[in-house]
Amino acid sequence: NKQIKIGIVGYGNLGKGTVAAIEQCPDMKLVAIFTRREPESIQVQDSAVKVLHISQAEEYISEIDVMILCGGSATDLPEQTPYFARLFNTVDSYDTHAKIPEYFQVVDNAAKQSGKTSIISVGWDPGLFSINRLMAEAILPNGENYTFWGKGLSQGHSDAVRRVEGVKAGVQYTVPMEEAIKRVRSGENPALATSEKHQRICYVVAEEGYDKEKIKQAIVTMPNYFADYHTEVHFISEEELRANHSKLPHGGFVIRGGKTGEDHSQVIEFSLKLDSNPEFTASVLVAYARAAYRMNQEGQAGAKTVFEVPPVYVSPKSAEELRKELL
Ligand code: NAP
Repeated sequence: NKQIKIGIVGYGNLGKGTVAAIEQCPDMKLVAIFTRREPESIQVQDSAVKVLHISQAEEYISEIDVMILCGGSATDLPEQTPYFARLFNTVDSYDTHAKIPEYFQVVDNAAKQSGKTSIISVGWDPGLFSINRLMAEAILPNGENYTFWGKGLSQGHSDAVRRVEGVKAGVQYTVPMEEAIKRVRSGENPALATSEKHQRICYVVAEEGYDKEKIKQAIVTMPNYFADYHTEVHFISEEELRANHSKLPHGGFVIRGGKTGEDHSQVIEFSLKLDSNPEFTASVLVAYARAAYRMNQEGQAGAKTVFEVPPVYVSPKSAEELRKELL
């Protein structure tokens, strides 16, 4: 059987995780990593892996079956995905939920023109959580969906903390409220305010001579990010930050409570507990790269989301094997 030839665009957390995930898939082969930086400046653990400048990607059209796009959602992917969809099948993890419909349209136009397949917004949320929200809602139309995130390190909120005057370094954890999860699991379907679902905990290293109380006030009153939540701010040393807060754990819960028949309560729950958010997200991207390749082989061109990808395309096993082993 022929191996699926993979390229990676962007070598940040997700790019590194993708290299590791491909190593666990015997049906795939990493051809090269493409970066906007000087390729010589990039250190890859396995020295056999080729690192090239992004401008060379076009030379690899016949060498690569699927490009896994590992750029950031804010500014990289809106530009990179339409460009690469004109040349390759692609998979990306675009996670700006509110802008997904317009992003889909732009990528769909590009991929339809080239006859390529682009699976967008793959990962866990959007991604595996989305599938579970869809399934639960279809099965229990009379019910309510709940999504809880964490405990996990949020990159966006950590960046916001670091922008506060007097903050030298810091991280932010999003923590789901136990009490809220307990009520949702009971099938009660409560109405929950934002502050009742999640709590925010910050670990901050202050610049020398700065008033810690002032820093704390600036954080907890920050609109959109912290003002609507119960926010804790803990001041710690730089050593402690490095020792205890340099990993990227995450996870969460998708829960739906619904009623069937004569008022019988039914609860569906899907949860993730992740030591490394980027390595897990990358593992999802790699599995969907298999789907992008196969769907394209069958002529299913254009943009797709996880909703339009049948599970059989994601697995390395044949439909026959799956019926025997996992059904
Ligand atoms: P990241 O580490 O910041 O990397 C983003 C890009 O920045 C890389 O592709 C890389 O591009 C560049 N870069 C990385 N390190 C750099 C450095 N030291 N100096 C200069 N440039 C550097 O972001 P990430 O953690 O991989 O996350 C990427 C995106 O994944 C996020 O924006 C998020 O939206 C998404 N995500 C989605 C899910 C989901 O469930 N759907 C989950 C997690 C993350 P070049 O190599 O071209 O420079």
